[in-house]
Amino acid sequence: MADVEHRTVIVIGAGPAGTTCARRLAEANVDVLVLERREVVGHPAQCGECIPNWGEVIGTFAGLDDHAWLEETFDVPDRIKLHRLDAMRVFLPSGHHYTFKLDAYAGHRPQFDGHLAERAEAVGAEIRVGVALLRLQQQRKLGRELLVTSDGGRLTCDYLIDATGSLAHVGRMRHGKDSACRPADQVPTVYAQVRGKVPDMFDVFLGSVAPNGYAWIIPKGPDTANVGLGVRAGKLDGRLKDHLRTFCDNLDLEILEVGGGWIPMGGPVKRMVDGNALAVGDAAGLVMPSNGGGISQAIISGCFAADAILDHQHDGTPLQAYQDRIEFTFGRALKNSLRSKNLGYAMMRNDFLTESILRILGPIGGIKRAMECDRPLWVL
Ligand SMILES: Cc1cc2nc3c(=O)[nH]c(=O)nc-3n(C[C@H](O)[C@H](O)[C@H](O)COP(=O)(O)OP(=O)(O)OC[C@H]3O[C@@H](n4cnc5c(N)ncnc54)[C@H](O)[C@@H]3O)c2cc1C
Repeated sequence: MADVEHRTVIVIGAGPAGTTCARRLAEANVDVLVLERREVVGHPAQCGECIPNWGEVIGTFAGLDDHAWLEETFDVPDRIKLHRLDAMRVFLPSGHHYTFKLDAYAGHRPQFDGHLAERAEAVGAEIRVGVALLRLQQQRKLGRELLVTSDGGRLTCDYLIDATGSLAHVGRMRHGKDSACRPADQVPTVYAQVRGKVPDMFDVFLGSVAPNGYAWIIPKGPDTANVGLGVRAGKLDGRLKDHLRTFCDNLDLEILEVGGGWIPMGGPVKRMVDGNALAVGDAAGLVMPSNGGGISQAIISGCFAADAILDHQHDGTPLQAYQDRIEFTFGRALKNSLRSKNLGYAMMRNDFLTESILRILGPIGGIKRAMECDRPLWVL
C-alpha cells in the first residue's frame, strides 16, 4: 500500500534510552526513525535530576570500564551540570543521618534529554515530535505489523524499539496485561522545583514521610532544588501532591513547579525481546528498585539494543543476545537492589521499626549497600 511508510528501525520514545539507541544505529548508517509524543523532547521532566557520572556507572555495573562510546555519552556539556553531588545523606525518622560518597550531579533534565536527541539527529536519526504511537495492528494476511500514529501515519519496520518509559506502551499494545512484558510495582512519585535554603548534598528521608519509599532534596544551585516523594502505591492516605506541599512547607521551601510520574520498582521484565521488538530503559524495568535511579541503565540498554540489531543484521546473531547482555551487565546490581527494596517493604512498617532497623544497619554499612545496589548484609 502506497501510504504505508517503511523504516528499518522505529524507536518509540525520545527519552535517554530511545535517543541513545537511535544515535548508535544512525552512526552505523542504519535508517532509524524516533517517534516522540511530546512536543519538546524531555519536557516536562519527570525526574529528580540526579545524573550519575561515568565513575559512578562503572562502580555499579560490571564490564563497562573499557566502553569508550558509553563513557563519551555520559560526558555532557557543563551547561547541563548544575551542581556537583559528591555525597548523599540518608535521614532516619528521628533526624539522625548517615552520609555516603556519590559521583553524580544535579542536571537540567530537559536539556540533558535534548542534548542526547540532538546528538542522534546530528548523525542522521530522524526524530518526529508531537507524534504518538496509538496502536499496533497485526495484518496477518500481509505478514506485517502496522504502527498507527496520532498524526494519521501508518508505518512498518524491520525492528521496533520500545523506549516508551515505565508504562511500556509497545509491550501493552502487543500483549495487554501479560506480566512478562510489563514493568511491575509502579511507584507513584511527585516532585517540585523549589526555592529556599537547600542543602549542599543529596538528602534522602525515610519513614512515614514517604512510607515504603523515600523523600528527596537534590540541590540544583545555592537556593534551588528538586524535591520529591515516591511512595509505594496505596501506602499513603490523601494526595501525594498535598504531602509534598506539607514536606516543602515544613522546610520553608517555595514551590515553583510541580510534576510527577511512575517509577517501575519491580525489577526487569521477563521478556525484553519479543520477536522484532526490544524493550529498553524503563520499558524493560531497568530502574534500580532500592534507589529509583534509571538514567544510566536507559542509556546503556539503548546502546546494547542497537548493538544487537547491528549484529543481527550482520551475521544473524539472535536478538535474544540483547537480553543476555543486559542480564550480564545489570543482573547482579538489579537483583541486589530488588532484595534490598523487598527487605524495606517487609520490615519498615512504621517509624519505630524503620528507626530501629536502620540504626542497626547504618553503622555496619547496610543503608549504603542498599543505595549502591550491593548485596544486602543478610545475604552475605
Ligand atoms: C519523579 C521521578 C524522579 C526520578 N528521578 C531520577 C533520578 O534522579 N535519577 C535517575 O537516574 N533516574 C530517575 N528517575 C528515573 C528516570 O527518569 C528514568 O529511569 C529514565 O527517564 C528512563 O529513560 P527512558 O528513556 O527509558 O524513558 P523516559 O525518559 O520515560 O522516556 C520515554 C519517552 O517515551 C515517550 N512516549 C511514551 N509513550 C509514547 C507513545 N505511545 N508514542 C510516542 N512516544 C511515547 C514519552 O513521552 C517519553 O519522552 C526518576 C523518575 C521519576 C518518575
